[in-house]
Amino acid sequence: MGEGIGSQSGEQSNGAPTLWERWQRVPLYVRIILALALGVVFGLALGERAKVLAVPAKLIIRLLGALAPPLILVAVIHSLMTAKLGAGVAFRMVRLLLLNTLVAIGIGLLVANTVRPGEAAHLQPVAEKPADQKSDGDKFLDKLMEAVPESLVKPLADNNVIAIVLIGVAFGLALRSEREQPVRTAVDLVELAYRAILKVLTWVIGLVPLAVFGVVAGVVGTMGFKPFKALGTFVIAVELGLVLQTVWYLARIRLFSWVPPIKLLADMRDAIVMAFATDSSTATMPVTYKCLVEKVGVREQSARLGALIGTNFNNDGTALYEAMSALFIAQLLGRHLGFGQQLAVVGLSIIASVGAAGIPEAGTVTMALVFKAVGLPLEYIPFLLTVDWFLDRSRTVINMLGDVNVSCLMDGNGREDLLPLPPRERVGVRVES
Ligand code: ASP
Repeated sequence: MGEGIGSQSGEQSNGAPTLWERWQRVPLYVRIILALALGVVFGLALGERAKVLAVPAKLIIRLLGALAPPLILVAVIHSLMTAKLGAGVAFRMVRLLLLNTLVAIGIGLLVANTVRPGEAAHLQPVAEKPADQKSDGDKFLDKLMEAVPESLVKPLADNNVIAIVLIGVAFGLALRSEREQPVRTAVDLVELAYRAILKVLTWVIGLVPLAVFGVVAGVVGTMGFKPFKALGTFVIAVELGLVLQTVWYLARIRLFSWVPPIKLLADMRDAIVMAFATDSSTATMPVTYKCLVEKVGVREQSARLGALIGTNFNNDGTALYEAMSALFIAQLLGRHLGFGQQLAVVGLSIIASVGAAGIPEAGTVTMALVFKAVGLPLEYIPFLLTVDWFLDRSRTVINMLGDVNVSCLMDGNGREDLLPLPPRERVGVRVES
């Protein structure tokens, strides 16, 4: 389910594109890099005063955090409503998916605890001022924060009228282009809800460059470039983690399937390039499926299980990244996350990766859940966004390779046929006997 976030264009306007529309057409990663460069310039020029530019980032992250839980809820409901699997196959899939995700998080925590990328710099934790020491500016900011919903249901319970109106406006606009859509079944209804949440999410993600600009300006203005050195180490550490996860996939494929791992990588190169280029495992899904069936030669049913069904839950690259990010920010803030807290990171990273849609920046949306669980301040998430245009691409490739891994393992080693399909259904397969 789900379309690529880039396809959520909404209603088309007639005539020449406005400046805003032209800006939106620039790929997100280019917009983020531009925002980053501009943030450096403003940070250097304004110094300490640049701190105020980080305010919009707080609001944007709050909105992302509000959209994550309903997105996860609807994604899980939809997957369970529509999956057509026998109990045996479903059980085997869940076991495979869970094992891969746990290994990914384990690798993430291991690398983060060993390399300790966050120790290259120290950020000052943002201390909440006592109410009586707050300036008028602080009080205004608090009021602004209250108006921006931190959850889709809390404003209803709190009678927070401004937040309720904001939610109504956002979803009213998102559903305008859906108003003629017939809703015949419960699945139609769930899909409509999913599309509406994704559309609102697209708008909020459109604001991410603004968050990056403000945070970079604030960091450069107050702390200079030292934190970015730590970010460089973090990028290398995440890439190392993702490479180790790939090794895990290939080793499992070598041991438990008939597919030769190195040839597999060559056969999947279209999907690898596509995942890196589009930043979306959902947009890559048809190419993943085609490569698996036509080039690798796994049975269609296995390819369907991994690339079409499994992909909804299977985001190991995202899980690894979320766990590493939590540890990295904790290290930057000089906070120690004990065993219990790291266990909470594991649990929440599993949920966050299951709920992450296969679209650009989805991992950042669900990361708010992981941060909240271990009491890390959400305002550091935009700091990570400065390098996410690259890391998101890398973890999208791993998310896609996770689907490939499941397909190959479900196809078996050729001796014991795990699925009740005759070998002739394999397209161009070399089956070992
Ligand atoms: N972009 C990733 C994907 O499409 C999701 C993420 O942001 O982690 O799989």
